Amino acid sequence: MDNGGWAGAYADMDLDADILVAGGGLNGTATALALASAGFRVMLVEPRSRTERKADDFDGRSYAFAISSMRVLQALGVWPRLRDVQPILRIKVTDGRPGEGPSPLMLTFDHGEIEEGPMGHMVEDRHLRSELLNVAKDSGVTQMDDRVIEHRVDGTEVLVTLGSGETRRVRLLVGCDGQNSLIARHAGIRRMGWSYGQTALVCTIAHVQPHQGIAHQFFIPAGPLAILPLSGNRSSIVWTEAAGRAETVQAMSEGDYLDELRPRFGSFLGDIALAGPRFAYPLRISISERFIADRVALVGDAAHVVHPLAGQGLNAGLKDVAALAEVVTGAARRGEDIGRPEVLKRYEQWRRFDTMALAAATDGFNRLFSNDMALLRGLRDVGLGLTNAFPGLRRALIREAAGLTGDLPKLSRGKRL
Ligand SMILES: Cc1cc2nc3c(=O)[nH]c(=O)nc-3n(C[C@H](O)[C@H](O)[C@H](O)COP(=O)(O)OP(=O)(O)OC[C@H]3O[C@@H](n4cnc5c(N)ncnc54)[C@H](O)[C@@H]3O)c2cc1C
Repeated sequence: MDNGGWAGAYADMDLDADILVAGGGLNGTATALALASAGFRVMLVEPRSRTERKADDFDGRSYAFAISSMRVLQALGVWPRLRDVQPILRIKVTDGRPGEGPSPLMLTFDHGEIEEGPMGHMVEDRHLRSELLNVAKDSGVTQMDDRVIEHRVDGTEVLVTLGSGETRRVRLLVGCDGQNSLIARHAGIRRMGWSYGQTALVCTIAHVQPHQGIAHQFFIPAGPLAILPLSGNRSSIVWTEAAGRAETVQAMSEGDYLDELRPRFGSFLGDIALAGPRFAYPLRISISERFIADRVALVGDAAHVVHPLAGQGLNAGLKDVAALAEVVTGAARRGEDIGRPEVLKRYEQWRRFDTMALAAATDGFNRLFSNDMALLRGLRDVGLGLTNAFPGLRRALIREAAGLTGDLPKLSRGKRL
């Protein structure tokens, strides 16, 4: 990829690479790609093979992609390669109980209320993961099937030990190793958080009636149910249940599973059938106390895990990617050492407040909606009705969810570094 003629200007040939990214999930691969596109020599270390990660049934999630995330992928050359992208034209939020149907008070967000076009897009994990890996490979990222087991800072370098016993010397280690981040633990970064005692059951369904690009969020006492439009007459279901109940439902036959699901959202899509395997994801909130340590930066779920009810975890991760890439690229261009605390501090300051606000908001929503207390039910219905009545408030919420607010990094605005 063209990087403005800057490639290699920073390269320190005494080292094995400038930056080692631990974890080749979506955020890790995007981080490695963004940094390699900016001219750094990057190693991406991930224990699960590329063949395994590219398999169609590796991960059943489909992501509600904010406009800011789409722009990151556009700037990195991934977006045009994605298949089956589905615009979200409208979002309907409803409170209700299974069997009773939705409460009459409904909140509707329409893409016509903002100028930027569709407020988001649905992207299937299988297409996204595979194309990110392809573009990262084409951009010169060195991908290694291994795991990081230890790291040690030695002066201006980090010595990273891999499972194979080999060591790599780099300037900066980026931990993208998910919610149980070993990099964070070894760097002495503590996490705060708790399990929600809920599990998200995820599957893709095929249906008879078209979804018309409408995403539904249906708040049921056990937890939210999202019905998210995919290309064709298909939708992605994120069905949150108490953990014990979810285990029972997940173990059911396909027919029984669908019989459980149908009454939760009624018949507006016509008859439904499963269109792929079923997945289950235990839910928790978990935030790292710090996003940086000596020559270490954390990105994505390694830094923050939030409830998926607002579909914002990966969107937040991609803002981390964009902010970190901009901070270290700017530092390298000024001749600064990219692993120094004052450089990494800029990244942490940029991302931490935003992430804490997101964690607090999603946690609050889950508490307010995942219960059946009459008083809270009344309050939230009034809240939904009031929000619906004020176009200015609705527009502000749409802009927030689309990732269009705040101090956005260049990549999140679709600009190259
Ligand atoms: C049900 C559900 C629905 C969701 N829907 C949305 C949505 O609609 N929109 C949205 O924005 N977000 C959504 N999210 C959140 C999103 O899925 C996550 O935030 C995102 O996938 C996290 O990616 P990651 O790369 O940070 O972490 P992970 O996917 O956990 O990747 C971490 C990687 O690190 C590797 N690793 C672990 N240890 C090591 C080691 N020692 N060395 C090297 N590698 C290591 C692992 O093998 C793994 O591949 C959803 C989450 C859930 C649970």
